[in-house]
Amino acid sequence: DQSLADLDPEIAAVLDGELDRQRGTLEMIASENFVPLAVLQAQGSVLTNKYAEGYPGRRYYGGCEQVDVAEGLAISRATELFGAEYANVQPHSGAQANAAVLHALADPGDKILGLSLAHGGHLTHGMKINFSGKLYDVAAYGVDPETHRVDMDMVRRAALETRPKIIIAGWSAYPRQLDFDAFRSIADEVGAYLWTDMAHFAGLVAAGLHPSPVPVSDVVSSTVHKTLGGPRSGFLLARDAERFGKKLDSAVFPGQQGGPLMHAVAAKAVAFKLAAGAEFADRQRRTLEGAQILAERLSAPDVRSAGVSVLTGGTDVHLVLVDLRESTLDGKQAEDLLHEAGITVNRNAVPNDPRPPRVTSGLRIGTPALATRGFGAEEFEEVADIIATTLRDALATDVPWMRARVERLTENFPLYPGITA
Ligand code: PLP
Repeated sequence: DQSLADLDPEIAAVLDGELDRQRGTLEMIASENFVPLAVLQAQGSVLTNKYAEGYPGRRYYGGCEQVDVAEGLAISRATELFGAEYANVQPHSGAQANAAVLHALADPGDKILGLSLAHGGHLTHGMKINFSGKLYDVAAYGVDPETHRVDMDMVRRAALETRPKIIIAGWSAYPRQLDFDAFRSIADEVGAYLWTDMAHFAGLVAAGLHPSPVPVSDVVSSTVHKTLGGPRSGFLLARDAERFGKKLDSAVFPGQQGGPLMHAVAAKAVAFKLAAGAEFADRQRRTLEGAQILAERLSAPDVRSAGVSVLTGGTDVHLVLVDLRESTLDGKQAEDLLHEAGITVNRNAVPNDPRPPRVTSGLRIGTPALATRGFGAEEFEEVADIIATTLRDALATDVPWMRARVERLTENFPLYPGITA
């Protein structure tokens, strides 16, 4: 058999180039991470050849004896890790996990209530041209205009006004913890299901560094590839298997998907195993510490006087939201400038952003990937200073100097040492 390099040198060059890019830059996109070698191995394995429609022990295809073991392990490890009675590990992605939740708990036309996209919600929580916005009757709550935090009185008022079938707790760009107990009591008051999408903070939950939504939510959805640091994919949990298990299973398959990606399912099992360990917990601790160091440096007087500030004044998760409304840089310029310095972040709308979504007035900066790379407080202080100085000096930044500082960090923390793409 021909190797990839022989058969398809153009794609082989992309893989090589991407490995070099990941090694040579600082990855600070809040939703990204570096998977361990064991996850890469499981995902790039012969399990990709197998069809396995159905669930372990009740498949619609023969020859599933090995993949049944993998899925069984993924399920039992997920339920144990998060203290749930039920898990479904087949969703191909976070968006498909969310589609299955809506499919299971609501009918087209039913009212759903989630955090608005413009204030940090996700596309699948009711964005107008996403399936969630097209199929369901969407109402949204926003963050408080002054504090930029989710205010549970506002959520309650929105719920009483709109009487949704489902209330969604969860976010893609928000730097604080949610009050799950308050969400539960509002859901009970209006007779709604409570669905929490913990895609962003699942790793922190697994490490016990963030309140768990599992005990109070009816259904929890998540991705595996953000703080949790596993393969690109999704999964579902429920506290009450009897009440929600069958509904969710049939919403995933055959409701939303055909054959599961068994290589990804096996890789999820590996990721859940790792997430139960002490090394993982330490990584999540450094993730939080890094985000706090970054928030503090970006709140220093020299940065503030350049019109740069931190939304909500800090963070208690793995990311910081930078407000550039008063800066000379817009979100796009800031993202490009940091990219030139070798730091990858994404521009992000701030609540009530005066600029269009392609430009924005903010940045979302996350620490999970660098914590995985081995960074601790000392390295995060250096990264925070590079970012703060760059945003402060804006177009007058000494980019080659920043790039040199980034290179020193990347060289001291080699990524995937010894492997080739
Ligand atoms: N849910 C939340 C809260 C997210 O932030 C994301 C991804 O950004 C998703 C779901 C969707 O995950 P995926 O990109 O795997 O579809």
